[in-house]
Amino acid sequence: MRWQGQKLGDVDDAALPGLENRAGVLRTVTTPEFAGMTFHEVLSKSALNHVPGASRMPFAWTINPYRGCSHACVYCFARGTHEYLDLDGGSDFDSQIVVKVNVVEVLQRELRRGSWEHETVALGTNTDPYQRAEGRYKLMPGIIETLAASGTPISILTKGTLIRRDIPLLVKAAQRVPVDVQMSIAMYDDELQKAIEPGTPSTQARLDTVRALTDAGFRVTVFLMPIMPHMTDSVEAIDTALRRIKEAGAARVIYGALHLRAGVKPWFMQWLGEFRPDLVSSYRGLYPGVSAEAPKGYRQWLAKRARPLIRLHGLDGQHEDDYPVRGTWSGTSSTRPARPSGVGGGPVRPVTSSASASTQPMLF
Ligand code: SF4
Repeated sequence: MRWQGQKLGDVDDAALPGLENRAGVLRTVTTPEFAGMTFHEVLSKSALNHVPGASRMPFAWTINPYRGCSHACVYCFARGTHEYLDLDGGSDFDSQIVVKVNVVEVLQRELRRGSWEHETVALGTNTDPYQRAEGRYKLMPGIIETLAASGTPISILTKGTLIRRDIPLLVKAAQRVPVDVQMSIAMYDDELQKAIEPGTPSTQARLDTVRALTDAGFRVTVFLMPIMPHMTDSVEAIDTALRRIKEAGAARVIYGALHLRAGVKPWFMQWLGEFRPDLVSSYRGLYPGVSAEAPKGYRQWLAKRARPLIRLHGLDGQHEDDYPVRGTWSGTSSTRPARPSGVGGGPVRPVTSSASASTQPMLF
């Protein structure tokens, strides 16, 4: 495997931006504390990634301190991106984690540039910033402090309960800039959650994290995504999910059906064949060939089912298809926050009422 046999000084034209020069690779680490995982520590040339204008994601800038994700969600969008690193999108994605150990220093340098316009920076759009590796590397505190000190609004989407460690920092940051926090919680059946998201904290632990964030003053959005056809799309399943989300104190919910991009489909179908072989032909029908999205008819059916339940539970809700496009989301065009979010004096104000809805994340 190329990452373990690499030579320092090699230049890799196929690598992701910022990782082309293997002189930036410091070392490969395994430790008993993280059994089964390998961390590839790299020096990255860039911290901020510019999102192409054509992307559905309305944020113009993202930071991904890690590549690969120990949360190991079978359906993860980002699996295919690991192949750019000459690693596979299956177990390598779950266990071979690239760590940009200098991300904070590089970010500080990038934000000092006169050309930086203080647009919102999103974390958690590709891989989870609060995955297990963050417990070892502790990159997020520096990222949060650096963004806040520079007057840059922050948006975080995660499945990681480790975010609780940083709540005091996030509260402090929210006194300077808008801070939008979103938890991804899609599975409310413990057996299914363990099978399909084997590296994630439990559903209840994530709901408890929503409560902790809410109690700290944040208006939290829960991503109820992906909803799995024939597994989690019954009225009873959606109703249970929404009830628990509401009880946890979340204000909003964004929901949507499973996507299966090319890079993840073979891994997902292999898993489905083992876990629910009875559904394989049905999923082949819903996601034929290269189709990544569930059919429009299914998505509309799902929206019709979910909307009244969302209203019933008194939540703000939005279907993922209703994300605003780039430029219609005010957070991306502001140069400075209109007014800082308040903590202590009142609830933390989200970037806009649709800010989290506007995220087109990889993280679900
Ligand atoms: S969906 Fe998110 S949390 Fe799950 S493996 Fe992918 S990046 Fe990690």
